Amino acid sequence: MKTIGLIGGMGWESTAEYYRILNERTRERLGGLHSARCVLHSVDFAEIERYQAEGRWAEAGEALADAARSLAAAGADLLLICTNTMHKVADTVAAATPVPLLHIADATADAVRAAGLSRVGLLGTAFTMEQDFYRGRLAASGLDVLVPDPEGRALVHRVIYEELCLGVVREASRGAYRRVVGELVARGAEGVILGCTEIELLLGPADSPVPLFPTARLHAEAAVEAALGAGSAD
Ligand code: GLU
Repeated sequence: MKTIGLIGGMGWESTAEYYRILNERTRERLGGLHSARCVLHSVDFAEIERYQAEGRWAEAGEALADAARSLAAAGADLLLICTNTMHKVADTVAAATPVPLLHIADATADAVRAAGLSRVGLLGTAFTMEQDFYRGRLAASGLDVLVPDPEGRALVHRVIYEELCLGVVREASRGAYRRVVGELVARGAEGVILGCTEIELLLGPADSPVPLFPTARLHAEAAVEAALGAGSAD
């Protein structure tokens, strides 16, 4: 079994989900008392969020590259950045060590294609919904990506930073997100990517008429597949 290195804390509530899913999936695959070999470097999200808001992406990239180096030194065989947004600096992180980085958009695109879909809605932070580092990667995988209108994008972004990343789950926000999903479906989305790792704390399959693609879960499950390969515990 390979050791999975997690760059987490952005925010920690969804990183805790990664830890749970890695272990549940490993037990499903191997049975008994098996659990995931992993190491976690959890950052102070306030520092990272300040870099995001001020557009200081080089410094954000260096902070996560430092985390990657610490995980490599701790024995990680593969690396995950446990947030969609911070894949904006994925190239910097990938270049920091020889340890392979498993990109969250690739794990997600694989799941969408495996479901036989190609036209998908995308919910996430404004960075993720509006910038090319994420949408472009999905498009390069053959997906046609729809994002909410400006008002919908502002709502989705605000709820992430003012509620979900603070551990707050509000019924009113669930209703608002359901309406945004409905608008994407009306525009032709065959599925919706929950492209922020906290959104799956708010929305589940019952909240959507089309399949949802929860990125924290898909990313963690892909990591277990990569860690176990053909399925030996060694
Ligand atoms: N966890 C979120 C994501 O997947 C947002 C927090 C962040 O800005 O990293 O994008």
